[in-house]
Amino acid sequence: MRMTCARSSLIFCNLMAVYLDHNASSPMHPEVVDAILPFLQNPTGNPSSLHSFGRMARSAVESARNEVAQLLNCSSNAVIFTSGGTESNNLLLKGFVDKSENRPVISSEIEHPSIIEPLKQLAQALPVILLPCNAQGQIDPEQAAEVISTADAQLMSIIYANNETGVIQPLEALIDMVDRDRCLVHSDATQVVGKLPLDMNQLKLDALSFSAHKLQGPQGIGALVIDRKPRELLHSGGEQENRKRAGTENVAMIVGLGKAAQLARLELDQKKHHLLQLQQVFESRLAAIPGSQVFGQKATRLPNTTYFALPYYHGETLLMELDRAGFALSSGSACHSEVTLPSHVLSAMGVDANLALNAVRVSFGMSNTLQEVEMLINKLQELVNKLPAVIRQVAV
Ligand code: PMP
Repeated sequence: MRMTCARSSLIFCNLMAVYLDHNASSPMHPEVVDAILPFLQNPTGNPSSLHSFGRMARSAVESARNEVAQLLNCSSNAVIFTSGGTESNNLLLKGFVDKSENRPVISSEIEHPSIIEPLKQLAQALPVILLPCNAQGQIDPEQAAEVISTADAQLMSIIYANNETGVIQPLEALIDMVDRDRCLVHSDATQVVGKLPLDMNQLKLDALSFSAHKLQGPQGIGALVIDRKPRELLHSGGEQENRKRAGTENVAMIVGLGKAAQLARLELDQKKHHLLQLQQVFESRLAAIPGSQVFGQKATRLPNTTYFALPYYHGETLLMELDRAGFALSSGSACHSEVTLPSHVLSAMGVDANLALNAVRVSFGMSNTLQEVEMLINKLQELVNKLPAVIRQVAV
């Protein structure tokens, strides 16, 4: 996608890059921008106010809530608007777990940090069981069966598709092993909502987190879907969101989220088809580059995500080379001060630490084209060709 120089957005003038980092954040759909603008340009009342402006804002918020409910096939009463996936995951783990009961929480080794960090805090009060994944980045239901069926857990929270690898987890099989009367089931579906059909009712999911900006909605808005009362609140001091999340609603962004949810529902098939085509072409061309490899390639993955490595290119070096050449991708490693650590997801998959440090993620979006895929592949090939011949031979 080429950023153009909009009237009041001079900062974008230099951004003539091909954007290939949609799992990090996807640009807003033009219809989402159109839906939001009137709420920024005109007086928008407080949805809790009784006058006409307040009632208009309330009605906009409730329409958006209905759109989310339709997309996920859940009750609209269960939708709690939050600031995104991070807050939703925190609200779930801090608000809905009973710390006085010494019953475990089950999760996995390949969760997003917004699950992992609150789990570390919970682990001081109760047992936390992390399911491992196999070499393809997938939790093995057969291996998990005994743990799940004997743990008597109060909560199981499993990421639906991992943000780095795109690997989809066998949620249905895992949920079937849980005692539904005693265990709440949640999924961090931040990378799935808007990319694949997701029916909470059919999946028998009690709770789900997601973020609007992963489905062409605005940043800083999302939802936790859960039809229960929290034991503890993250935000208190107001009755908003059915007393589950205090503070005046971000009306304009909620409207944007509602529009993104509506478009996702209507355009899902077309979107999946387009993304899958880009991914397939990219991966088949990548396979021809000697020494390249794709992590989790044999597992079922999101249609837009490829997590890969080229030989002898450190992930961050490769990212900088690509950035200079006008391609925006992402690395899977976390940079803590001066030390770059391999991704915890690749470590859980048993990937060698040196290879893991070479990992780079491409995540396509609707604005990407086959021509851009071709340009990226040519650039990767050119970078590999730059390696001294002796190194290239060893890599093969
Ligand atoms: N969970 C997953 C799987 C994610 O990919 C992300 C975003 N990287 C989050 C949670 C957090 O979302 P946000 O940053 O929008 O709060």
